[in-house]
Amino acid sequence: MSCLFCSIVNGDIPSNKVYEDELAYAFYDIDPQAPVHFLVIPKEHILSAGAVTPENSAVVAHCFEVIAQVTKELGITDFRVVSNCGLQAGQSVPHLHFHVLAGRDMTWPPG
Ligand code: AMP
Ligand code: ZN
Repeated sequence: MSCLFCSIVNGDIPSNKVYEDELAYAFYDIDPQAPVHFLVIPKEHILSAGAVTPENSAVVAHCFEVIAQVTKELGITDFRVVSNCGLQAGQSVPHLHFHVLAGRDMTWPPG
């Protein structure tokens, strides 16, 4: 199975890494939508937020620990976390990822 974000985790496709441990990987988005825009992903291939189960949810909680830690390290206190699930919601890469956006005013509702 070929998956863009699995290839980034494997190092087959280069990325601008922010953080890595045995469960999670974080890297700057190639097309930033805010002054700070990085993605946090589980290394395990999970399709989307709609594919989270009792068996794999621990890594999702871990991703949020990573988000809290990395934003703290970057000195960011105000940020938005987004996970698009499915085509209508704007998901373009079918590997669960959390966008972390910061550095500008955010509007609500999102587009
Ligand atoms: P989504 O559209 O919510 O599935 O988010 C996928 C994100 O991955 C988009 O914001 C893209 O800009 C980003 N992206 C796609 N390819 C790469 C890449 N090679 N390195 C970093 N970010 C990427
Ligand atoms: Zn994948």
